[in-house]
Amino acid sequence: MRAFVIGNIALDETYSISALPEAGASIFGEQASRSLGGKGCNQAIVLSRCGVETTLVAAVGMDDRAIAIGRALTRERLTPNLIPVDSPTSDISIILTTPDGENSIITTRAAAAALDENAALDALGDAASGDLLVLQGNLSEETTLAILNAARSKGLNTAFNPSPLQPWFASVLPLIDIAVLNRIEAEALTGENGAEAGAFLLRAGVGLVIVTLGGQGCVLVSNDGATEVPAAPAAIVDTTGAGDCFTGVALASAMLRGVAVDVRALEDASRAAAITVGRRGTQDAFPSHEELMAILRT
Ligand code: ATP
Repeated sequence: MRAFVIGNIALDETYSISALPEAGASIFGEQASRSLGGKGCNQAIVLSRCGVETTLVAAVGMDDRAIAIGRALTRERLTPNLIPVDSPTSDISIILTTPDGENSIITTRAAAAALDENAALDALGDAASGDLLVLQGNLSEETTLAILNAARSKGLNTAFNPSPLQPWFASVLPLIDIAVLNRIEAEALTGENGAEAGAFLLRAGVGLVIVTLGGQGCVLVSNDGATEVPAAPAAIVDTTGAGDCFTGVALASAMLRGVAVDVRALEDASRAAAITVGRRGTQDAFPSHEELMAILRT
């Protein structure tokens, strides 16, 4: 069984500055790091580090960043399918951080939004019944709907992380087998929180729902009822990326055991996310292949 993550990829460029600039100001800063990012890329990397055969399908623009992205991906265990699209730039996140921990983030999404349905459907070409499709909220509505319909007709399981929030998400819910969303997304989509949000999404046609609640853990909601799973103890350094790590491990744990997402999968995901929140960065903070294999084995 394979996982196909069709989503976004970006270069995260982090700059250290002494304070966030006023409008019109020119300030000095230092480039602190340059690394891969994007929710699709993050989740694909975690799935692949768990030992799931993973293809990442993502759009890149016509620039040097696309080359840097391709080169950086060779360090990971996944199969990249980078699709050049009609965008002058690949997607990028510029992260400004100050010594007192404040940050401001500017993210572009022209490349991800330009991934058209034909290219995305081609990328699903050799997916087969029982494979897993993983989507987030970065693609256009048309492309997202086309991929989900194609996946359903091929017998794939569909997982959806509705982030960043888009106004059209209600239209795709009946095509989703597994939804993983945080508290803010749950409230925006359903007007409810926790188990009630899960119940709302089940009524909308989703097969199984996981609502993550930060340090309070998560709740699994299915037709069998709602089960709360506590977060694993963690020494918090930086919570960025906790959700993507959690999503990738929950899906991988269930897939590798050939079961639906269950409490064991969420316990594995919580332990992995606890490692992530104890380190600085996003992909740099994700557990390694060895750490994830140790979590999944025990
Ligand atoms: P992010 O946007 O920061 O990547 P998110 O908002 O998508 O994350 P959260 O609900 O904050 O997702 O966290 C996902 C999971 O990560 C939680 O269910 C929990 O297992 C773990 N986690 C997050 N924050 C903490 C914390 N403070 N202590 C322990 N575990 C945490």
